[in-house]
Amino acid sequence: MIVRKEIILNNQKIPYTFRKSRRSRCMRLTIKTDATLVVSVPWLLSRKKAEDFIRQKADWILGKLEYFKNKKTNLPSATRKDYLQYKKLAREIAQKKLEYFNQYYNFKIGKISIRNQKTRWGSCSRSGNLNFSYRIIYLSENLCDYIIVHELCHLGEFNHSKNFWDLVQKTVPEYKKIRKEIKKM
Ligand SMILES: [Zn+2]
Repeated sequence: MIVRKEIILNNQKIPYTFRKSRRSRCMRLTIKTDATLVVSVPWLLSRKKAEDFIRQKADWILGKLEYFKNKKTNLPSATRKDYLQYKKLAREIAQKKLEYFNQYYNFKIGKISIRNQKTRWGSCSRSGNLNFSYRIIYLSENLCDYIIVHELCHLGEFNHSKNFWDLVQKTVPEYKKIRKEIKKM
């Protein structure tokens, strides 16, 4: 069960996703990189209890939300002109790297699109299409490799399970370190 709710923390209205799960055994707060709050609770726990828990963690939550909101603007800022100019180069890089890394995976790759995305480096659709921000051209090679491999591996595992990370690790063994670097950007 997933519902969207709101809670007031320090006089600020904070939207959050409330998720009840039969599998989870404890309450968990997650702040996603797009600055959204997700609260997962065990099946039998009330929303009131969950909100008490959220209030206890108000400072931590507000701090993290602030951090992720500011972070968005820290990605390489560039104009539409840059996008049009470098789109082709980004596509060539993505295609070449996908071809190279897919030797190890042999996934069926759908359409590849290059977009002018500011907040995401890449994404993958259920139908196997891969999207990348043209901003991958600004990344150092190992970071760019990781972005490519991350989306590529979603063709094998459409989630972030252990199996998924095992796939990533096959060609990017230092992926944990790289993820930290990317998060700091
Ligand atoms: Zn992913």
